[in-house]
Amino acid sequence: VGRLVLVLGDQLSRDLSALKAADKSRDIVVMAEVMDEGTYVPHHPKKIALILSAMRHFAEELRNYGWQVAYTRLDDPDASKSIVGELMRRGQAHGTSEVIATQPGEWRLIEALGNAPLTVTQLPDDRFICSLDEFDQWAEGRKELRMEYFYREMRRKTGLMMEGDTPAGDKWNYDHDNRKPAKSDMLRARPMQFSPDEITQEVLDLVEARFGDNFGDLHPFWFGVTSGQAKRAFDHFAKSLLPGFGDYQDAMLRDDRFVHHSVISMYLNIGLLDPVDICNRVVDEWQAGRVPINAAEGYIRQVIGWREYMRGIYFREGPGYTARNMLGQTRDLPWFYWGGETRMNCVAQAVDQTKEEAYAHHIQRLMVTGNFALLAGIDPGQVHEWYLAVYADAFEWVEAPNVIGMSQFADGGIIASKPYISSGNYIAKMSDYCTTCAYSVKQKTGEGACPFNLLYWDFLIRHRNRFGRNPRMGPVYRTWDKMDETRRAAVLDGAANVLKDLDAGRVV
Ligand code: FAD
Ligand code: SF4
Repeated sequence: VGRLVLVLGDQLSRDLSALKAADKSRDIVVMAEVMDEGTYVPHHPKKIALILSAMRHFAEELRNYGWQVAYTRLDDPDASKSIVGELMRRGQAHGTSEVIATQPGEWRLIEALGNAPLTVTQLPDDRFICSLDEFDQWAEGRKELRMEYFYREMRRKTGLMMEGDTPAGDKWNYDHDNRKPAKSDMLRARPMQFSPDEITQEVLDLVEARFGDNFGDLHPFWFGVTSGQAKRAFDHFAKSLLPGFGDYQDAMLRDDRFVHHSVISMYLNIGLLDPVDICNRVVDEWQAGRVPINAAEGYIRQVIGWREYMRGIYFREGPGYTARNMLGQTRDLPWFYWGGETRMNCVAQAVDQTKEEAYAHHIQRLMVTGNFALLAGIDPGQVHEWYLAVYADAFEWVEAPNVIGMSQFADGGIIASKPYISSGNYIAKMSDYCTTCAYSVKQKTGEGACPFNLLYWDFLIRHRNRFGRNPRMGPVYRTWDKMDETRRAAVLDGAANVLKDLDAGRVV
């Protein structure tokens, strides 16, 4: 009797460890669209459609390569509600209780498989550059786990942009050149879009019927759903947008939701793209002289540095990580995160685009929605669930360390050495949101003052015990201490009013 080979919705890679360990001639691949996975947070309909359609296409591909695939559709009346339930059902049908799996990217599922009344072998997920053991070895005994040092190890390991043991151009990191605001440009390329084929169309109808009430627009649906399409999308990015990636990485524009970003995280995270392949492609462009060094280095740093580092932290910190709340923040997530009204243009733009695209780029996530939640004292657990639900690329191993660690400082500083916070100034500098906002970013107090300006100080004062002694934050506290008494009182009064309005559900 053959064994079952589990392939999850974010494991759609032909060289998945579970597939490599299996025997095509007798083992059966199990893929299942189950309700539990669709509903444990209210996922964006585009995210659900992407995963289901990519799963169906991948199952076809496996069959074409000679695999036997037992595929369960969401609307199958016999389907069980969970992955483990489906494995048991298939196991009974095929007379086996042996399962080969690749370790899931989420503690919840790792534990479910571990506790299943089946013999499940969970193999390491080797679609990453750094194994979890290797990450632990790197981390062991270090006082601080700074991404920059981890990244250098990954550069050495992969040899990407290295000349022997030295980094190309003699510098590891060109971020210094990468903080330019961008201008609207009608000629700038856009991410490659794909029209739904028949399989996707069927999925869209199903998602509309089952998840149509979730936050987020299902249509127009333009994501790629196969590795071939994902590769074409990346190729298009590499040729047309990568040269500006470095310079404009942090820029935000009202009329350009993607600026110079690649918009491929959702493909990478479900297995349609390989991180080393895309980095090699980037290096080729740079070596051919079509892409400046700051763009190429900046891009590979995100992929072999940040992405791998986040995964290492998630698994190292264990299942309790998502429940951390070191700053003790408890306010409920405001309704405007789910599309309710807000007068803050930056937040409205980021949420609107999230609703329409299931996408926002890094700086929108970090310095607009994340920054506001942190400044306003929102419960990080609720912030985490929001991010996990609304982005097409959100899987816990990468979402949680970005939200709980980097953005909300809820892990007490494992990832970030100081909280990522800013007043409205930063948003005004990096975007064109403020020019059409109901609030004035120049106004620091009084009616019409930008809420970021008020809450910024309120946050710092609320948490002075924790951050007052942080050498990197000394200068901001000194600025506050030098401010005159009446102004300080006006700032704190203004902040208290904003928070009162939030709590009362009034429009902010
Ligand atoms: P680009 O800007 O073109 O970057 C290229 C690639 O680098 C991305 O596709 C991604 O794979 C990788 N990358 C860049 N930054 C990071 C990072 N901080 N962590 C991990 N990978 C990174 N990324 C996710 O993949 N899933 C998430 O759920 C997620 N949640 C986030 C939540 C918050 C609060 C923040 C601040 C960041 C989050 N990120 C997440 C990281 C980052 O914002 C996205 O990877 C990026 O916006 C995806 O868009 P892109 O493909 O256009 O990326
Ligand atoms: Fe956002 Fe403040 Fe600028 Fe308005 S003025 S867009 S609230 S930063």
